[in-house]
Amino acid sequence: MLEILKRRLRTGTVTTGYPSVPESAPPGFRGKPQLLSDKCTYCGECVSACPPGVISLKEGNSEKELTLSYCGCIFCGRCEEVCSYGAVKLTQEYELASKTKDDLQTIIRRKL
Ligand code: SF4
Ligand code: SF4
Repeated sequence: MLEILKRRLRTGTVTTGYPSVPESAPPGFRGKPQLLSDKCTYCGECVSACPPGVISLKEGNSEKELTLSYCGCIFCGRCEEVCSYGAVKLTQEYELASKTKDDLQTIIRRKL
C-alpha cells in the first residue's frame, strides 16, 4: 500500500482541468469550419466538394445565402482546400454541444 502511495506521489497529476480550465487543440487540429462573408464569391465550389453535403447555396431574387451545418460535418477540410478565395477556414474550435440545431449552423448572405 505504501509503495502504491509513493508511486502515485512520484507520478503527480496526469489529467488536465478541462472543462473548468480551457484546453487548446493541438497544432493541425481540424475544428469548426468558419465562413468568411467578406471573401466569399458564392461560387458553390465548397458545396460540390463537401462529402456529406452539409453546405448549401440558395439563390433568391435579391440575395445569395450560403449555409454550413455542423450537424454531419466530418471536419475533413475539403471546403477549405477547394475554396480559391480563402473564404472557409477550419478553426481550432471543438466545442459543439448545443441545445438547439439552429445553433449548429453558420449562414452568410450577400445582397444582389
Ligand atoms: S466559401 Fe469559397 S468555395 Fe464556398 S462558395 Fe464561398 S467562395 Fe465559393
Ligand atoms: S469540413 Fe468537410 S464535411 Fe465539414 S463542411 Fe467542410 S467539406 Fe463539409
